[in-house]
Amino acid sequence: MREVGGIRCDAVLASLSDYVDGDLDVATRERIATHLAGCPECERFGAGFAAMVSALGQDPPPDLSPERVAALAALLRDGAG
Ligand SMILES: [Zn+2]
Repeated sequence: MREVGGIRCDAVLASLSDYVDGDLDVATRERIATHLAGCPECERFGAGFAAMVSALGQDPPPDLSPERVAALAALLRDGAG
């Protein structure tokens, strides 16, 4: 475990479902987004998690390139939906 963006990996993983659901406050979402951007392990896990959520809720993405993950993270961060 390590701390990136002011939040630790275990806290990020524990909050990931709330993050995807948009149930977190802005400050926490921003910390998680910063962490995902700076932590390859969580980014990899987050990409798979986001793909699963996307597949459950809507059309699955054709791929999960870093650009796509970054765009998804931006959407989540901006509170779209
Ligand atoms: Zn991490």
